[in-house]
Amino acid sequence: MGPLSVAYPVDLHTHSVCSDGTLSPGDLVRRAAGRGVRVLALSDHDTLAGVAEAVAAGEGLGVRLISASELNTESEWGDAHVLGYFIDPTDAALEERLRWLRENRGRRVELMVQKLKQLGYGVSLDRVLEIAQGGALGRPHLAEALLEKGYVHSYEEAFDTILAKSSPAYVARVGLSPLEAVELVRRHGGVPSLAHPGTVVGLEALLPKMVAVGLAGIEAYYGEHSPELTERCLALARTHGLVPTGGSDFHGRGEHGVDLGAVFVPPETIQMLESRRMRPSG
Ligand code: AMP
Ligand code: FE
Ligand code: FE
Ligand code: ZN
Repeated sequence: MGPLSVAYPVDLHTHSVCSDGTLSPGDLVRRAAGRGVRVLALSDHDTLAGVAEAVAAGEGLGVRLISASELNTESEWGDAHVLGYFIDPTDAALEERLRWLRENRGRRVELMVQKLKQLGYGVSLDRVLEIAQGGALGRPHLAEALLEKGYVHSYEEAFDTILAKSSPAYVARVGLSPLEAVELVRRHGGVPSLAHPGTVVGLEALLPKMVAVGLAGIEAYYGEHSPELTERCLALARTHGLVPTGGSDFHGRGEHGVDLGAVFVPPETIQMLESRRMRPSG
């Protein structure tokens, strides 16, 4: 992901230090602008805390910032992550639900630190919290703590070994079901899209259920997708009347393989997503 890699003007999936990314929201927007991105969704996990800073940074640089959040769910459907677009950072009822999800993240990471200690890994919760800098906690912060202590040779290795689902240190997420995630986004006026559908187990069976409760998009364009998976997602989008969305899933550590704007997303995607917004009732 060098500075010479090509970039496209739309990126609808990115993370900052407000969740498990490494850049501040402002630095994320400045990096995106420098690469030619003009429409950027900040989609931090379970938080909208970075949106105001990102919007402000975008204003001076001609970057339109779309407020978003990625809601991770873990169930018999595997990992179904829901991107909610156009949700409002000042919506107090939504913030209450997001705070609950962040508290669950904190408890889960705390439990994983305890298990790591029992397994002989000297990782302290205090250090993990320092690494997270107040962001919504997750395994990426544990991976960094394990890496700096030399228990793994790379960030990726931590996910493949000590932090893997099959590892004795793993603790399952408590939170929303895939359908509840879609409903939460819709209830608060947002437009939900299924992130990186390749991580779902039983995609063809789950998708119609998600569509029935308001799913509007499917992330067809994604750095780790094979051409076949992108085609399969585009076919599912046609079948179910979904907007094909896409993005880099940039976190700042080179994970997911691509830099900001490096995944092609058709510019008309923005308008298509906007047309799927529901007008507030009442
Ligand atoms: P968690 O929410 O704690 O389960 O951690 C999930 C986060 O870890 C996601 O946001 C991913 O960006 C990151 N992640 C998951 N799997 C990997 C992996 N194999 N390599 C690098 N990052 C990963
Ligand atoms: Fe993440
Ligand atoms: Fe995700
Ligand atoms: Zn993501």
